Amino acid sequence: MSEFSPSIEKLIESFEKLPSIGNKTAIRLAFYMLNTSEEQANEFVKSIQDARKNLKFCSKCFNISDTDPCEICSNAKRDQSQICVVEDVKDVIAIEKIHEFKGLYHVLHGTISPMDGIGPDDIRIKELLARLMDGTVKEVILATNPKVEGEATAMYISKLVKPMGVKVTRLAHGIPVGGDLEYTDEFTLGKALEGRTEL
Ligand SMILES: [Zn+2]
Repeated sequence: MSEFSPSIEKLIESFEKLPSIGNKTAIRLAFYMLNTSEEQANEFVKSIQDARKNLKFCSKCFNISDTDPCEICSNAKRDQSQICVVEDVKDVIAIEKIHEFKGLYHVLHGTISPMDGIGPDDIRIKELLARLMDGTVKEVILATNPKVEGEATAMYISKLVKPMGVKVTRLAHGIPVGGDLEYTDEFTLGKALEGRTEL
């Protein structure tokens, strides 16, 4: 039996589902929220609802955006011949922060992971291939994380893209194996992008 009332228990559980929040932090956050003013609590809920309502996915690159196409896809100054393929929207933000990459992105929204029942059709691979059809894109940079799933996904995409006559490159080493793009420092990420190798 829990020492908390069911409604507090439910709130704690909700916080616990958030990434990197353990039980102790969840309890702290739950009680923090209970002690805030009604107005503050409502504002918090509303900001989540508004963000969810207003933000949409770009129908070209699947980045999250207020507009469709997103700001990056609709910026004519960006290099239309390069697409950087990432797992997650957070990776776009990480790469944008280093101001090195001037091309476009493609967000897969996951990696191929048979253990979790995620196959190639469950992430945005088909949509990537469709973007390569008109011959504008000359290079696909695979920037999936250097973990087992990220590597397998990069290999899978590479096998499909290379026969289309598009150059396929992979971020250079420097990003720790098993690491996350979003937690890689800007210098290392910049070097990895600069030193990318052809697959
Ligand atoms: Zn876009």
